Amino acid sequence: MRSPSQPDLELRGRLIRSLGALREMLPGSFVERQRACGRSRCHCADGKRLHSQYQISVLMDGKPKALNIPASLAEKVREKIEMRRRFDAAAATICGINLKRFLKEKGKRST
Ligand SMILES: [Zn+2]
Repeated sequence: MRSPSQPDLELRGRLIRSLGALREMLPGSFVERQRACGRSRCHCADGKRLHSQYQISVLMDGKPKALNIPASLAEKVREKIEMRRRFDAAAATICGINLKRFLKEKGKRST
């Protein structure tokens, strides 16, 4: 039941089909922090050339956690967290379309 005269339904269909690509999404937010490792002979000891530390900041069982991520996985994790943002944005758009359609349908029926 697709018609070019219903752009909302086309958009909804396109969004729904795009969600499969987001199945590896991760919750929380991506955090990059600079820190010194504490070793006196390390290049970070000057307090300027610090180490990057990557974390996922996330609620687990209702409690905030900061999970360390190895640098080798940081870019992947950043993308997966971004997927969640896109998923939420798509869900919000779909809900908006459906609400509009629901109100229109309801308007037809109300007396
Ligand atoms: Zn260091």
